[in-house]
Amino acid sequence: MSISENLSHIHREIGPDVSLVAVSKTKPVEAILEAYHAGQRVFGENKVQEMTDKWNLLPKDISWHLIGHLQTNKVKYIAPYVSLIHSVDSIKLLSEINKQAAKHNRIIPCLLQFHIAQEETKFGFSKEEAEIIIQSEEYLSMQNISIVGVMGMASFVSDENQVRQEFKSLNSIFSYLKNSFFKSSSDFKIISMGMSGDYQVAIEEGSNMIRVGSSIFGTR
Ligand SMILES: *Cc1c(COP(=O)(O)O)cnc(C)c1O
Repeated sequence: MSISENLSHIHREIGPDVSLVAVSKTKPVEAILEAYHAGQRVFGENKVQEMTDKWNLLPKDISWHLIGHLQTNKVKYIAPYVSLIHSVDSIKLLSEINKQAAKHNRIIPCLLQFHIAQEETKFGFSKEEAEIIIQSEEYLSMQNISIVGVMGMASFVSDENQVRQEFKSLNSIFSYLKNSFFKSSSDFKIISMGMSGDYQVAIEEGSNMIRVGSSIFGTR
């Protein structure tokens, strides 16, 4: 199956209410252009250098999403152009994004990443940690970031029930934060969850943004 066939298959499956981030990490610009010519405009990368190289080479109407762990000293490279940062996992990072966004006179949309997997290796906040940040004076004074939702990764396990429970937990964190802190914000609406192996379950559990790589571009 070609990249464009894979894309149309996934679009038919997920419908118009779920947005698709095409995860192009490690893939060459030719593959991204093939997806672009099939109509895809949103791409996800997990490394700052690679994303910036691709941003330089590719059409400027592409929206670039940073989906991987972000070090504070690299925020400056993506601040001019990034469309959405999925992987905010500390106040220090949020503060640096705010600072660099200000230099470019931008408001950068961000998702808070939550640790929902049983596995130890994943980055992300607990609900309690996020609550503290959202109520802090430091956060409340930030003018150049906008928290537009949540992101999480389920465990890499074949137990669908476990994966489902983890997605449920992210959905319930989203609802709690929405009702407690973002009631009046129409921007707080994204639940980024689901990858090639689990996006159907993620959508059943309320995802409205999936990040899919290998099912579009093939294995890495
Ligand atoms: C690589 C990656 C994906 C996509 O993974 P696939 O299994 O190839 O769909 C999604 N989210 C994050 C954070 C990733 O690093």
